[in-house]
Amino acid sequence: MGKVTGFLEIQREQPTRRPVEDRLKDWQEIYQPFPEEKQKEQGARCMDCGVPFCHTGCPVNNLIPDWNDLVYNGRWETAIRRLHATNNFPEFTGRICPAPCEAACVLGINQPPVSIKLVERSIVERAWEEGWIKPEPPQEKTGKRVAIVGSGPAGLAAAQQLRPRCGPSAQARPDERLRPLVCARLSFRRCRRRSRFDAASSPREPRGPDRSSEVRPRTRRPSP
Ligand code: SF4
Repeated sequence: MGKVTGFLEIQREQPTRRPVEDRLKDWQEIYQPFPEEKQKEQGARCMDCGVPFCHTGCPVNNLIPDWNDLVYNGRWETAIRRLHATNNFPEFTGRICPAPCEAACVLGINQPPVSIKLVERSIVERAWEEGWIKPEPPQEKTGKRVAIVGSGPAGLAAAQQLRPRCGPSAQARPDERLRPLVCARLSFRRCRRRSRFDAASSPREPRGPDRSSEVRPRTRRPSP
């Protein structure tokens, strides 16, 4: 577990947000940088519960107590491996997930819960900075392609799983209108680096006539 008495000694902390006036001018992070020592302290608050309810709260069954402990002990590279074991895109979930794991955290019964989402984001940010996340090209190409329709988490995760393991190259084909939305909302560095996503400024497809002001006739349900 993290620090045995960590939950008794350390308070929950979160990074402060940048002023709204600044955030309106760019697509950078919402939060101010959070020092590494404080990240470790937040991992130290985890009690490594015998029945970790954070597991049941997490939709992807993240191994939360494991990487809380690894962060506390400064084993960041192992932590990203444990995180990627269950989660294809912690850089997404560490930002936009509503963190039901924190709502389920046992410590939350009588104290503020462990800052699980913060620890998750800290691990993946560190992994990007250190260059631990690398492309995983297939060992062998079959010449066939798999088209995955949809740019949501399931489609992206399917593409990421298929590409290195199944040989045939997998291609995610997100909706043209959703692609810039994903980039804009996540401020995701991988998206921003790719020039093809910069094509978001190209004209959008027409969406058909605007019917928002039309009055729809009300229909009654037939009586039984
Ligand atoms: S429920 Fe909370 S305190 Fe318990 S193992 Fe999960 S994160 Fe740690």
